[in-house]
Amino acid sequence: VVYLDYNATAPLRPEALEATLAALHSVGNASSMHHPGREAAARVDVARRHLADLLNCSPGEIIFTSGATEANNLALRAGYARGGMLVTTAAEHLAVIETARAVTAEQQDSLLVLPVDKDGVVDLEPLVTALRARPVALVSLMLANNETGVLTDLAPVCKVAHEAGALVHTDATQYVGRLPLDLRALDVDLLSLSAHKFGGPQGIGALFVRRGAPLPHRPLLVGGGHERGWRAGTLNVAGITGLGAAARAARQELAHEANRIAALRDALEEALIAEVADCRINGARAPRLPGVSSVTFPGLPADAVLAAMPHVAASDGSACSSGAPSPSHVLLAMGHSRDDADSTVRFSLGYATTERDIERAATAAVDAVQHVRSVMAATVE
Ligand code: PMP
Repeated sequence: VVYLDYNATAPLRPEALEATLAALHSVGNASSMHHPGREAAARVDVARRHLADLLNCSPGEIIFTSGATEANNLALRAGYARGGMLVTTAAEHLAVIETARAVTAEQQDSLLVLPVDKDGVVDLEPLVTALRARPVALVSLMLANNETGVLTDLAPVCKVAHEAGALVHTDATQYVGRLPLDLRALDVDLLSLSAHKFGGPQGIGALFVRRGAPLPHRPLLVGGGHERGWRAGTLNVAGITGLGAAARAARQELAHEANRIAALRDALEEALIAEVADCRINGARAPRLPGVSSVTFPGLPADAVLAAMPHVAASDGSACSSGAPSPSHVLLAMGHSRDDADSTVRFSLGYATTERDIERAATAAVDAVQHVRSVMAATVE
């Protein structure tokens, strides 16, 4: 199988597997004072430092969570507790959109959902207007979209938001480990990530909270006061260790991998455009992540195209919402019709993708499109 679904989950990096197994093989609660406990705590410290190095932040600014969903929930709940509006966008992951709806359920006019244009780019005008009109507690904008890879230019957002006293959160789940990130330069207050998108294990992630950010203390889980009181519960030492190893490996290869992966993605898109004249690449006019390609094959159901290429693991764009058959809200927000949204396949590449993978996937996709076309033509006759 050619695996092209890195945005759903990336294969576990060998370094992460090794580190996770080593941690699983040893006993010790990171809160215990005895030697095995100290060893577990040391593993967590090392991992925290690797992640801090990848983000260029301080280890003390990281709270380990079960993933980006939890990190987003934590960020939005605490952020909204500052008082004021919550502002987000129509193209966010459901882990942000549904959380934003849930925390503002009792005061629905305190949620503002910004539109995106046909390229998936957020329109800042309504944000600026909102910041002038009413107090805004938190602005939450994703750094890279999971379906299209379209990037958000967050520096101007941070500037206008901070001038108005709002905090800025970003869901960077698809960005971390794929493009360089420098939290000393990018002035966001909160940032969410999930290890399994950059080659760490599933079920572990983190929330970065900038030191000194005026964030009310609103943990989702209370109990033993772990993670400076922000996330109670025995630390997932093995998961955290694997996350750290993946962060380290990702950081080491960041500089050259992004270009290599972008070239592979471009080759895939060129092959598809050459053979399937009417296909469209979503978000192609905007700056994008290197490894994502969202392709609409007009008139052809994406599930049929995917079924016709069983040796390529790609997605119909809605993989993140546990099999729900609804059309992608991201593509609808970009102005696509329901039919086009249902005819969109997402290919996502990563660190282990090879040239050979892309050649095979391109051939398989072109064949699949032709197959589905001929089946549909036969059905119409
Ligand atoms: N945000 C984005 C942008 C994502 O792509 C994902 C994963 N699909 C999440 C949040 C949620 O991550 P997790 O399921 O690991 O909590």
